[in-house]
Order: sequence, then C-alpha cells, then structure tokens
Amino acid sequence: MTRRLLLLLALVATPLAAQTVDTTGTGVLIGEAMNRSQVMTTLEYLTDVIGPRLTGSAAMKQANDWTEAQFKLYGMTATQEPYEYGVTWERGPIAFRIDAPFPRNLSAHSWAWTAGTGGKTLTGPVVLVDASTPESLAVYKGKIKGAWLMLRPPATIQNPDGPPMTAADSAAMQAERQARAAAFRGAGRDTSAAARQARRQFGVDRNYLLKQYGALGVLTDASKEFGLMNMSGSPYSVSPLPNVVIAHEDYAQFGRLIERGVTPKISGRVDNTLGTKPVTQWNTIGEIKGTEWPDQVVILGAHLDSWDLGTGTTDNATGSAAVMEAARVIMASGLKPKRTMRFILFSGEEEGLLGSAAYAAQHASEADKIQAVLVLDNGAGMITGMALQGRNEDAQLWTDLLAPVAALGADKVREGNKGGTDHLSFIPYGVPGWNYDQESRGYNHTHHSQIDTYDHAVPGDLRQASAVMAVTGFELANLPVLLPRGPTREVTPRTVLPPSPGLVAKK
Ligand SMILES: [Zn+2]
Repeated sequence: MTRRLLLLLALVATPLAAQTVDTTGTGVLIGEAMNRSQVMTTLEYLTDVIGPRLTGSAAMKQANDWTEAQFKLYGMTATQEPYEYGVTWERGPIAFRIDAPFPRNLSAHSWAWTAGTGGKTLTGPVVLVDASTPESLAVYKGKIKGAWLMLRPPATIQNPDGPPMTAADSAAMQAERQARAAAFRGAGRDTSAAARQARRQFGVDRNYLLKQYGALGVLTDASKEFGLMNMSGSPYSVSPLPNVVIAHEDYAQFGRLIERGVTPKISGRVDNTLGTKPVTQWNTIGEIKGTEWPDQVVILGAHLDSWDLGTGTTDNATGSAAVMEAARVIMASGLKPKRTMRFILFSGEEEGLLGSAAYAAQHASEADKIQAVLVLDNGAGMITGMALQGRNEDAQLWTDLLAPVAALGADKVREGNKGGTDHLSFIPYGVPGWNYDQESRGYNHTHHSQIDTYDHAVPGDLRQASAVMAVTGFELANLPVLLPRGPTREVTPRTVLPPSPGLVAKK
C-alpha cells in the first residue's frame, strides 16, 4: 500500500474539519498586512515605474529582476527559473482614420503577435466577411481584395450607466448574441476529432488565406463601452495580416453603415515588430523554507506579465503585489511555516498560461508534494472567498481556512470552477489548485484595456487580499496532512501548428 493510499484512508476516517486548521499566528499576519502594508508602494513601482510587462519585453525582464531583489530584501531566498517562450512581439506606432462617409480619427490598437502594414498607410473599404469556415470564405472571396475586413457583426454590449438589466433582458440579449453568432457561423458543427483538427488548421490558415486574397487587414470589435480597448494574442498564433482592435462604437457604426448599403472607407498604418527566434523567459520565485516538511510546498501565485495598452495594473500587478506582500508579511511576522512556501510570479500568462505551464511541467516530479496552488488574478478587488474548483469535499476546509479573515469579508465558499489563469496549469498533475473570488471593482472594463492603470487599484482591498493570501497560505503550510490529490490527466506540450503548405507569404 502506498503512503498516499494510507493517507487517503486516514482522511476518509477523519474528514478535514475545523480541528485540523491551526490558526495560530493569523492575528499577527492580519495585523502586519492591514496596519503596516507596503502593497501599494510595490504596486506603484511595478506599474508606474516599470510599466506594462509584455512577456518577452525588456520591461518583463526588469520586473523579474526587481521582484527577485524585493523577495531578497524581505529576507527570503529568491531565484528566476527559465523556460523557452516563443518569438517576441513589439508594438509600434499606429494611426487609423475614417475617410468616408466623413473623416475623423479612429481609436485603434493592434492585436498582439500580428504583423504591421509594412511601413505603408493602407486605404480601402470596410467589408463584413464570414471567414469562419472554408465554405463561407469561398462565398466572400471576391470581396476581400484591397479591403479592411470585419470578420463578425458588432457585439451587443450594455451601457453600464443605463438602468440595471432585468434577468429577462439579460437572457434576451444573450440569446440574441448567440443566435447572431450561430447564424453567422452556421450552427450544428461536426464535433469529430477529424473535424476539430480541420477547424484548428483552418484557424491557422485563415489569415494567410485572407492575405493571399489581398486583404489589407482585419478589424476587431473591442466589444466594450466608452471606447475601451480589448486585446490578446500569442506567439502560438502569429498572424501575417495586421489585426487592429477598434473601439466598439466605431465598429458598431461600420456595421450599421454596411447594413444600410453604405461602404465605410478607412486608412491606417501600424508598425509592429515580430521576432524570428524563440526566446527564454523567466518566472520569479521567492521561497520560505518549511521547518518540519521542507520538501512539501504551498504555492501562492499571480502573473507578473501583462498586456501593454495600459500598465497592467488590475491584470495582474495587483495579484503580484499581493503575493509579494503576503511574503513580506510572513517574513516580517517572524512566524515560520512548517511546509515550504513559494511565492511565484509567472510570466507568459496572457499568451496562454505559458510560464505556469512550464513551471508545472518542470516540477512534475514534485507534484505530489505540492500541498496547493493559490492564485489571485481577478482584478483589484478584495477577496470574497473561494470557488472550490470541483473539490467540493474541501468546502469545510475552506470555511475553516477563511475563518480568521471572515471579518474582513473573505467568508464565501462556493461550488464552481474558475478558468483563465495559472492554477489551471497545476490541476492536471493532481495538485489542488484554486483561484480566489474577488469583488469585481470594474475589472471587466479595465482588464486588457488602455485604462488598466494604478488609478483603478483599491488600497483597502489590496491590503485585505494580501492578508487573506498570507493567512490561508500559512494555514495550508501548517495543516497536519497533505491534501488528497485530484485526478491527473496527461499534459501534451503546446506546439505551434504551421500553416498548410504553400500558404506562407513569400518575401
Ligand atoms: Zn490575468
């Protein structure tokens, strides 16, 4: 019988309950975090001094170096662990204008890992094209040459200053959006493996085909209100065509004009630089050695990288600053965790959880000794509690872990899964991984936008989040038992799917 099975049996006999969480020292941690906080100073340096931290950029490396040095200042050991990332991408200047039906400037920003316009201003009509399948693209093929393309109808968005939506309104809006998307895409898709692979290949080929057919570039709806931008991108999906995000209001106007038979005309130039070779990137790791089980580890994490339209504050310098502050608070308290605590600031999160996936793969042989991974990446708001991520048997455990910070508002334990951030990289290895629930504090507006800046951080909330991370991480480090592992599944390394033969544009 393995030790793990014995442990599991022991847990079945004695469920993790209130008596197993040792809350000793949590009052000291809360006092340090709430009364002598340095979290806003850390945040300000990361966002206003270092600035946006696009993975692969010089600022990213500066952030890795600075955070490593900070951990050492707190009295901990710290290091940077490398991984192979992908090609770099650098944003250059951009200028877009509507020429017709009347001239004015456009608010436009490039999607990442997309090409520029080759040093030229490109002028052409705006055309709505369904390029979602090879069949639909064939229908529109003749309209593409010399045009800027909208690949989907304008999104439906809610004015945040309008009256609150009723549940019925909200459901109707959702249904309308889905119906529109389904009609545009052609509903009833083949879900066989072959069909999915073909769709993936077409997804890679599409922009090469559009370029071959003479498109000037793609326009993407920012899909937010008040001219707020939105963007993403990855070295795993490099586009040979410019892809420019424009404000929803402009995109929606184009949609209305086209519907009434008026063709808008625009001019634009964007100068981006794509790297040619994969580069090395780093995660920053601070560590406090455990006194009793030093080979067992609790990880507190957030992503240090960001998009680059603002300064990457709410996504996710706030999380990074809270992780650093939790480390500082524990060091300043003089308390010693029984298990090792690692404070990891991942890079490459925005491009597909690349830094955390690399870390989890490189540390796969230690996965059984990682007690838990706790990630903070839902904006600037205070922590409200925890979503159980399928581990509903841990509801009582989380209620008990949060008990010392319940008075700070972090008391809600709920069933549910959180997606889209670094805890996901560890779950396939059976490691318990969680992402704290937070107040939104406008996160849906700020994230990935040009206003993701220091102004949107909330000092009291960040002090609270740091306290909650320090307390719950410390308690898990001192829990008498290792948590039972979750189910494992195979992790296939991510690879770049090349375009079909013959589609790479000749220089
Ligand atoms: Zn994030």
